[in-house]
Amino acid sequence: MAATSTARKLLLDGEWIETGEWIDVRSPYSGDVVGRVPKAGADEARRAVDAAERAMREPLPAHKRAEILVRVAAQLGRRHEEVAQIISAEAGKPLKAARVEVSRAMSTYTMSAVEARTLAGEMVPMDASQAGSGKLAFTLRLPVGVVGAISPFNFPLNLVAHKLAPALAAGCAVVLKPASRTPLSALLLAELEAEAGLPAGWLNVLVGPAGKIGDVLVEDERVRLITFTGSAEVGWKLAERAPRKRVNLELGNATPVIVEADADLETAATKLAENAFSFAGQSCISIQRIYVQRAAYDELLARFLPKVEALALGDPADEETDVGPLIDHDSRDRVLAWIEEARSAGADVLAGGTLHGELVRPTVLANAGPELKVSCEEVFGPVCTVTPYDTLDEAIELANGTRYGLQAGIFTSALETALAAARRLEFGGVTVNEAPTFRADQMPYGGVKDSGNTREGPAWAVRELTEERLVVLEL
Ligand code: NAP
Repeated sequence: MAATSTARKLLLDGEWIETGEWIDVRSPYSGDVVGRVPKAGADEARRAVDAAERAMREPLPAHKRAEILVRVAAQLGRRHEEVAQIISAEAGKPLKAARVEVSRAMSTYTMSAVEARTLAGEMVPMDASQAGSGKLAFTLRLPVGVVGAISPFNFPLNLVAHKLAPALAAGCAVVLKPASRTPLSALLLAELEAEAGLPAGWLNVLVGPAGKIGDVLVEDERVRLITFTGSAEVGWKLAERAPRKRVNLELGNATPVIVEADADLETAATKLAENAFSFAGQSCISIQRIYVQRAAYDELLARFLPKVEALALGDPADEETDVGPLIDHDSRDRVLAWIEEARSAGADVLAGGTLHGELVRPTVLANAGPELKVSCEEVFGPVCTVTPYDTLDEAIELANGTRYGLQAGIFTSALETALAAARRLEFGGVTVNEAPTFRADQMPYGGVKDSGNTREGPAWAVRELTEERLVVLEL
C-alpha cells in the first residue's frame, strides 16, 4: 500500500467495523493501492438493515436533521482539498474536476438542509364537496422507511451525497453500498455525518460484492425503497426483482447535442470540447453525439477540433490535466473496440482514436452510422460523433434515436427553435446554449425511457422518499 493511502473501516450501527477481509482500492491511473476497506457481505447487510430499522423507531426532528446536513456541508468546505484528493486518487478524476465535485456536494447538503426545514404536507379543501363539509383535512409527509442506496464510481462523493442528504432530510435511515472501486469518498462522507452528530444506525455503509449486498436490499421487506444510480442493465434488473418496493433509477444516456447554423459557434465549440471529454467521458451526461446543421458543419469542426487536440492528457493528480484514465482496463478495451467497430464500418477518425500511453485520446468520429454502438449505446469514454443534418426535424429524430433519455442540448439563437426542441426532445432535461452536461444540484435531474424513472435534486428526491398520510378531522 502506498505511503499516502488510507485504510477506512465500514460504518455499521454507529460502530466502525472490520470484517477480517479487505478490498484494495487502486488508482485507475498508476494501479497503486490508494486505500483499503473491509469487505462486507450479506451478514453485515442484514445487520445494517436491523440497525437502520431500529434507528427509525426514534425519529430525528427536522431541525436536528437540518443541523447535521449544514454541518456536513461546512466540513466539506473545511476539508475541501483533502476530499478532492481522495476523489482524484480513487476515481482517477482530474483534480480540477474533483474540486468541482466537492463544491457540488456542499451544495447538495445545503439544499437538503433547506428541504429538511421546509418539508410539510398540504391542506385539503374539504368543503369543496358536500361530503367533506364540516371536516378539516391535511396531509403529513412521513419518511418512506429504510432506504437501500447503491451508487456508481464516477461521482463517488456527490452522487453519494444525492443519496444520503435527501434521505436524511426526509427522515429515512440508509444502508449505502457505494461502488467497490471508489468507496473512500463515501466512507469519508459517512465519517463527516457521524462527526456532525448523526446517531447510530441512521447511516450504514457497506462495501463488498454487489450481488450479495444487493440481494439483501432487494429481499428484506424492511427496505422500503431502493435508490440506484448506475448502468441501465443493473438498474432495471433490480427494479424487476423488487416489484413491491419503490426502486428509483438514475441511469445512463447517449447524450446528444444539436448545433443550429444560427448558433454562436465559438461558444458551442468551446462547450462541446469541454463537455465531451472531461473525466474521460465518464459522466452520464457527457456529450456523445453532436448534430450540426450542414451550413455550419465545416466551421464548427474548424473551431472544435483544435480545442479537442489542445486538451491535456495525463496524471489526474496533475493540476493541468483535463483528461485522465478510464476506470479500468476492461473499460479502456471496450471503448477502443467500439472505436474500431466504427472505423471498420467506414467512420472517419477526425481526432484521437488511439492510445496515449494507457490513456484513450479524445476521439472525434465522423460518418458514424446510427446503428453503431458509438451512435446509440452509452460510450462512457472520451469519444463523440459529429454528424451533419439539414432540418431541425431531422436533428430531433437523430437525437431521439436512442433507448436513453436523460439530458439533451441545443445551441441556437432562435427562441422558437429552442422551444420547439425543448418540447420534442424525449429527455428528462433539455439545455439551451449550454452543454447538456450541465447540472446544478438543486435541479430536478433524471431520465425517461431506459435512463430511469425518478428525479434527484433534493427538493424532488425528498418527495420520492416520503409518503403523504391523510388526516381527517370532524369538527
Ligand atoms: P454499475 O456497474 O451499474 O454499478 C453501479 C452500482 O451498482 C455499483 O455500486 C455496483 O457495485 C452496483 N451493482 C452492480 N451489480 C449489482 C447487482 N447485481 N445488485 C446490486 N448492485 C449492483 O455502474 P458504474 O459502472 O459504477 O457507473 C456507470 C453507470 O452509471 C453509467 O451507465 C452512467 O451513465 C450511470 N450514471 C448515471 C447517473 C445518473 O444520475 N443518471 C449518474 C452517474 C452515473 P460494484 O461497484 O461493487 O460492482
